[in-house]
Amino acid sequence: MVGEMESGLISVDRWRSGSQAYFLTHMHSDHTRGLSPNWSHAPLFCSRTTASLFPSRFPGFDLSLLRVVPLSSWQSLSLRSPSSGSPVLLHFMAIDAHHCPGSVMFMFRGEFGCFLYTGDFRWECDDNAAAKTTLVTAINEFPVDILYLDNTYCNPIYTFPSRQVAANLVADIILSHPSHDIVIGVDTLGKEDLLVHLSRILNIKIWVWPERLRTMHLLGFQDIFTTDTSLTRVRAVPRYSFSIQTLEGLNLMCPTIGIMPSGLPWLKRPFKGEDKLSGSLLAATTCNNRKPAVKEKELLLLQGAVHHFHDNMFSVNYSDHSCYEEIGEFINLVKPKSMKGIVASSSCYVDPLYYFGRICGVNQPPELLLLRPGTGTGTTRDPFRAVRIKSYSTKDETRVSKKEKRRKGDGHSSLERNRKRRARIQVKCAKIAEVD
Ligand SMILES: [Zn+2]
Repeated sequence: MVGEMESGLISVDRWRSGSQAYFLTHMHSDHTRGLSPNWSHAPLFCSRTTASLFPSRFPGFDLSLLRVVPLSSWQSLSLRSPSSGSPVLLHFMAIDAHHCPGSVMFMFRGEFGCFLYTGDFRWECDDNAAAKTTLVTAINEFPVDILYLDNTYCNPIYTFPSRQVAANLVADIILSHPSHDIVIGVDTLGKEDLLVHLSRILNIKIWVWPERLRTMHLLGFQDIFTTDTSLTRVRAVPRYSFSIQTLEGLNLMCPTIGIMPSGLPWLKRPFKGEDKLSGSLLAATTCNNRKPAVKEKELLLLQGAVHHFHDNMFSVNYSDHSCYEEIGEFINLVKPKSMKGIVASSSCYVDPLYYFGRICGVNQPPELLLLRPGTGTGTTRDPFRAVRIKSYSTKDETRVSKKEKRRKGDGHSSLERNRKRRARIQVKCAKIAEVD
C-alpha cells in the first residue's frame, strides 16, 4: 500500500534488532543511542565521512557492517517481506543535510511510496545549491508521500541569520574583547565551519580537547586546531562543561567570556548591564570587506541574534538546524502529501502541519501537543540543557493526528504515550536528545 512500509524492513537512526537494514543520518549522540562496539544486527548505511568516524567513536565496531552511501545517486537494496517472504526492492538516496560533517537526509522509494527523512538539517539556500538540485530532480520524478522533518525550530519565534553572518557576529564579540580569554561551547561534532572561520578572521589557532582534536584530524583539519593552551586565547570546550559557574571560576584567574553558538536562547532573562557590543556588531558586519555582504533581511535579525545574558556570557544564534522560515521554504519545495516532525521538546511537540499543513492540503491544522505540561522548556532547573524526544511514523498522517488529538488530556504520561506510539508504528525512531 502506498504510504506505508512493512515493519521489519529498515530503521533510521534507531538501533534495536528486527530490521534488515539500518541507516544513520549523522554521528550526533542523540542519533546513535543504542549503537555500540558490539552492535551487529545488519548492514549499516551512512555517508563516507560518518563511516570514517566509527573507529574513534566506537572502537572495535565491526567495520565490515558499514556500507558507504555516495551522495545524490540512487542505490537499491533487495529486502524480504517478513510477512509474506516475497522480495521487496528498496531504492534510496543520500542528500547532503548541511547539519554537521557527514550529515545526510535519506530518500526512500519502493512499492510503499516515497519517503524523505531529513534527520537534522539546515536549509540555507545559498549553500545548498547542489542538494537542492538533487532534491528537485528526485521529487519531480518521485513525489514525496511522507516527509519526516527536523522540526526543531518549527515555530515563528525562531528567526536567525545564516551561519556565515552568525560566525561574523561571534568574531565581533571576540574582537570586542581583545584582552579576554574566550571559551566557546561546542559538541563532539559540528560547528567546525565556525571555528575555522574564527581562526581565519583572528589569525589564531583554536584550542580543542584531545578527543576533539582527533576528530578534527579525521575530518581533514590539520593545522588550525591545537591542544596547547599557550598558543591561543580562544578555546572550544565541550558544551556540557560550559556554565556561568565555570566562567566565574575562570574569571578569578583571567578575564574570560563565554560564547554559546546555538539556535536556542539560553536563558530567559537577558543581562541588563552594559552591552559592550552595541554599535560594533552592525558596523563590523556591514562596513568592512567581509563577504558576502549582509542582506537587508538579515540585518534586521542581527540585533536579535546575540544575547548578552551575563557579564561574562553571550549566546549567538549560530544554528545547524533550519529556522522557521527555512523549514517553510523546504516544505514548499518538497510539497509532501503528508509530513511529520521528528523532534519533540520536553514541553511541546510542534506538528509541522500546524504551521505548514496548507502546503499538504490540510485545511484544519492540528493542535499543538503538550507532552509534559507544566515542566517548561527545561531551562528553569537546568538552563543549559534542553531535552527533546524524537519519534516518527510511516503511518498515514491524518490517522496519527486524530489519535494524538484523542490522547491529549487523557491522563497518560508522555512515557506511556510514547510506549504506545512505539507499539503501533512500523519504521520509527524514538530518542531523547539535547538540542544542538
Ligand atoms: Zn544533529
